[in-house]
Amino acid sequence: MSKVILKAQHIVKNYREGKIQTPVLQDANLEISAGVMNAIIGRSGSGKSTLLHILGTLDTPDSGQLFFEEQDLLKLNDKAKSAFRAKNLGFVYQFHHLLQDFTAVENVMMPLLIAGYSKKDAQQRALEYLSKVGLSHQLNALPAEMSGGERQRAAIARALCAHPKLILADEPTGNLDAQNASSVFALFKELSRKDGAAVIMVTHDQSLAEQCDEIFTIKEGRVIHA
Ligand code: ADP
Ligand code: MG
Repeated sequence: MSKVILKAQHIVKNYREGKIQTPVLQDANLEISAGVMNAIIGRSGSGKSTLLHILGTLDTPDSGQLFFEEQDLLKLNDKAKSAFRAKNLGFVYQFHHLLQDFTAVENVMMPLLIAGYSKKDAQQRALEYLSKVGLSHQLNALPAEMSGGERQRAAIARALCAHPKLILADEPTGNLDAQNASSVFALFKELSRKDGAAVIMVTHDQSLAEQCDEIFTIKEGRVIHA
C-alpha cells in the first residue's frame, strides 16, 4: 500500500445565489495515494469540477476537512495556499489555459519561475518537458499557431514540469477528437507515472476512466469508490 497524500473528509458544498441554494457535495470523502492515477466520473452537474477545485484549494467547502500529507489545507491563508499549490500541485484544464501572447516554451516556464527556479533552469526544464511531449518543433509557437492536441500537450508539459506530487486534471482530453484524446491521455499517464505523481482526473469518458488505477463516482453529493 502506498502512502495516502490527500485526504478529504465530510466535504459539504452548496452554492447560494440570493435565495436559491444548489446543494452540490454532501459528505464527500476521498483518499488519494502517492503515485496513483485516479478518475472521477459522474453526470454533468454532479459536482466533479467543484470537488476538483476544493481538492486543489481553489475553492473552499462549507464544511469538512482536507489534509495534504499532514498539513491541514483549510487552515492556510490565501498566500500560503498559493505557495502550497506552486510547490505541490499541477493543473490541466479542458481548454488549455495557455497564455495567448506567450510561446510554448514561455508558457511552460511560467510555473517554474513562480516556484522559484532561475530563468536559465526554468528554460532548461521547459525544453526537457516540451521534448517529452513531442513538441520540440513548436518551442516558439504561440498557442494560436498550434493544433488542439499540441496545445493540450503543452498544457501537460506545463502541469508536470515542476514535479508536483499531485496533478489535478479536469477533462484534459475533453476538447479533442477520440484519436487525439487517447494519444494525449496515454502520454499524460506515462509521464505522470515516470515522475511518480498522483493524478486526479475528471472525465466523462468511461474507457479513459477504466485505464486509471482507481475510479470514484460522484452521485447525490457523495463519492463512491468503485
Ligand atoms: P460537473 O463538473 O460535474 O459538471 P460542477 O461541479 O461544475 O459539475 O457543478 C455542480 C453544480 O453546481 C451544478 O448544478 C452547477 O450548475 C452548480 N455550480 C457550479 N459552479 C457554480 C457557481 N459558481 N455558482 C452557482 N452554482 C454553481
Ligand atoms: Mg465540470
